[in-house]
Amino acid sequence: MRQAGFRGVLAVREFRALLAAELLSVAGDQLARVGLAVLVYQRTNSAGWTALTYALTFLPALLGGLVLSGLADRLPRRELMVGADLVRGVLALLMALPGLPISLLLALVFLLTLAGAPFKAAQQALLPSVLREQYLSGLSLRMVTGQSAQVAGFLGGGALLTFVDPHLALGLNAVTFVVSAIVIAVGVGYRPVPVRETRHEPGGTVRLIWRDRKLRALVALSWLVGVFAIPEGLAAPYAATLGVTTAAVGLLMAADPAGSIVGAWLVAKLPSGRRPALTTWLAVTAGVPLVLCLFQPPLGVVVLLWATSGACSTAYLILAQAAFVLGVPDDRRGAASGLVGAGVLSSQGVAVLAAGVLADATDPVLAVATGGVAGVVFTGLSGVSWLRARSRRQGRSPLRPGGREDDTDRDSELTSPCSSSEAPPPGEETDENDLVGTVTSPCSSSLAPPPAGTAAEHGNGGADQVIFAQSARPASLPTNERSRKPWHWALWDEPGRVLFLILLVETAMVALTALLAGHGVVDRHAFVTLGIIVFLGVTMGELSRHVERVRRRFNDTPHVNLTSVWTFSAALVLPPVLTPVLVGVLYVHLFWRSWYRVRGVRPYRLVFTGSTVVLASHTAFLIRHLYAPADVAAWGSPAVVLVVVLAVIGYSCVNSGLVGLAITLHDRHLDLRRALGTGKENALEYGTLGLGAITGLLIGIDPMWAVMIVPALLVLHRSVLMRQLEEAASTDQKTGLTNATAWTNLATAEVQRAARDGAQVGVLMVDLDHFKAVNDAHGHLVGDRVLQAVADVLSASVRRYDVVGRWGGEEFVVLCPEVTEDELRTIAERICEDVRQLRVPLDGATVDGLTVSIGIAVYPEFGPELQDVLLAADDALFVAKDSGRNQVQTIVAAIGDLGR
Ligand code: GH3
Ligand code: MG
Ligand code: MG
Repeated sequence: MRQAGFRGVLAVREFRALLAAELLSVAGDQLARVGLAVLVYQRTNSAGWTALTYALTFLPALLGGLVLSGLADRLPRRELMVGADLVRGVLALLMALPGLPISLLLALVFLLTLAGAPFKAAQQALLPSVLREQYLSGLSLRMVTGQSAQVAGFLGGGALLTFVDPHLALGLNAVTFVVSAIVIAVGVGYRPVPVRETRHEPGGTVRLIWRDRKLRALVALSWLVGVFAIPEGLAAPYAATLGVTTAAVGLLMAADPAGSIVGAWLVAKLPSGRRPALTTWLAVTAGVPLVLCLFQPPLGVVVLLWATSGACSTAYLILAQAAFVLGVPDDRRGAASGLVGAGVLSSQGVAVLAAGVLADATDPVLAVATGGVAGVVFTGLSGVSWLRARSRRQGRSPLRPGGREDDTDRDSELTSPCSSSEAPPPGEETDENDLVGTVTSPCSSSLAPPPAGTAAEHGNGGADQVIFAQSARPASLPTNERSRKPWHWALWDEPGRVLFLILLVETAMVALTALLAGHGVVDRHAFVTLGIIVFLGVTMGELSRHVERVRRRFNDTPHVNLTSVWTFSAALVLPPVLTPVLVGVLYVHLFWRSWYRVRGVRPYRLVFTGSTVVLASHTAFLIRHLYAPADVAAWGSPAVVLVVVLAVIGYSCVNSGLVGLAITLHDRHLDLRRALGTGKENALEYGTLGLGAITGLLIGIDPMWAVMIVPALLVLHRSVLMRQLEEAASTDQKTGLTNATAWTNLATAEVQRAARDGAQVGVLMVDLDHFKAVNDAHGHLVGDRVLQAVADVLSASVRRYDVVGRWGGEEFVVLCPEVTEDELRTIAERICEDVRQLRVPLDGATVDGLTVSIGIAVYPEFGPELQDVLLAADDALFVAKDSGRNQVQTIVAAIGDLGR
């Protein structure tokens, strides 16, 4: 059955009447809103008051929705709508009276909004039964026309108000309510009060929603739309910051509804199977243009940005609300949709109010951008929560492919509940690409297999619905394919404490960027500088791509890489609002070209690391901004050098500190070397930051000079790789000690040197006693921890220039240059004692009572070659074991012992 789309919907007579009535009151309302906004701003000259007025056109809707929307399930819906319209007409007329005190005006606004709640609830509850299978088309069309009426109201209002009194605008609003009442009375047929299938206890609807994670997430998603009303509410003060006329206020207020029209139309074009995922994406995208307002673009661009935000927010709202209304059982739909609709309006009120206060304290641009950030973060969270609940409820593990997405997704959201007489006739094909074609009736179960998720949608549990999602594809996807979907991201597998830190750091990054947005001049010069730094950074990344790939495989200290040259110099010379752009480009480039498919490098870690880098850069900026002259040319004094050194320290503390904290929280175990990197890695980081400071100075003279730094960086990068390779080749992974090969090379060289100088070299051979018992008692992992602890004791007990190596298993060797036999014995005894004192803490227990046996031998006493000395030490060790362990032996002493 090919549905006729919007035309098919308009063929329904009752829908036409409902639509016409709605359009009239919406247009009138918008006219009144512009009138009110201008009136209050004229009288009070305060963004806070203006926003409060605007908020009052929304806020009581929550009250009305909670208290009055239940009426829509108890009274005939048509009569309720007519009554509510007449009440609103009278209130609007009172508002139009000239000379009303502001407080009375606000009280009237409050009541008017309150009376709107039962009207809306009745209308929402009527729509599914008026439109049946064409429900989603109807919602989408309603939104298109409703928003058009808003635009007309705002534009007309803006233009009208430059000529006529705001009071007249308020009067016209009253007329629209009365006409709307007449249209409904005539155009909509009588319907009796709906029969209740279940007993309605008070609060039952709220409980129903609260208990269902999916409905809960959808409500959250719908209510979050409030933040996208902030631009509209702050249009008047925002226009003032742009220095434009009253007519422009109307233009700004129209931007969001104009975008909404496109958004609503867009809903019809979305591929049906992708709708749930796209709902979340659209919601997250809606906040981005508001954040971009931080760049303080001119009026035309602002209008465009707000329109884009409006398009995305409307599109996601339609989808989320349709999924919600259809997810609620039939007999509760009236109250539920009233509740959620009222919440949407109230959240708009609250968001605009909060933004108004923020705007008064700071400025409207920042308030709008803050709303954008909140939108991105919170819609992202609720959207993902919904998608996860969906895959769980449909019996799909989030990691299991559910056939084609379309199979399971399309019907669950758009299943139209209806009586069996309304079921589409058998054999009619649905067209997936058509907006309404995917609407399936659960009532047709006798005619066709029940669509998956239907029962789940209605709270009956979905365990028996899974069969639908059979697939010929393998049971698990390769990581890369799997991780593409937001709700499958590895991010969500992180423990809560890490997740919290990640989100906190990312939010702090956005907030600090917003706070610093006013600093520094974002002009042509700044963009040219940014362009050059980005160019050099990306070029450098390209030239060193292969080296970086190899390097990254050996080392996963994520914040130590040479990009700090660019980010640190940017912190010195760029306005902070551009820093995230630079960091974003450089890290995405690194990830895409150098780190992709390298184990352990995941996008969310990249975003986190990027955020710490931005925060570090902002710290450096703040230090430089507070204590150094703005002009780099004036950086001649020692004091400024000190400031830059401070900036370097601040940068690296914030960066390493946050990454280290994340690693420690993840491991639940503080290991400084792992958290902060080795001393050498940090030396490299400081060296890089120093180069960054020099680059900053060069850029201060002229950005072109930064080219000079690239060759030095390339050489440095290569040498870093060489050092890492050498270290990897000579280090024992488990203990961090020198491995047997490297130790033998060092010892051979030392013996040769001693031969030349006539010096002595001592060798200790150390073996843990009864170590097998430790493994047997606690397992191999604990055994490894004990080995590490013993290795640390050995390193701490020997002299600074002695070399401790792991010989293999639980055996260690120590090379002690320039030593007498007595000194050697002292060292060995000290090791024995320190190991006896060692306590290795485990989760809830400790391992202690460890002992070692040590054999000692000295060159040249035991032979001209290293090998001879090692053999002697090994013999001595054997004797030590034989004589009861936990002791030090030499061969001479051993022979004496044996002779006794
Ligand atoms: P003895 O006092 O005679 O030296 O007794 P022992 O148990 O220490 O000596 P033995 O040579 O019989 O066993 C050594 C044990 O060390 C066997 C092996 O399980 C354990 N081992 C060797 N390398 C490792 C390692 O890397 N990790 C762990 N956990 N255990 C190891
Ligand atoms: Mg042993
Ligand atoms: Mg052994």
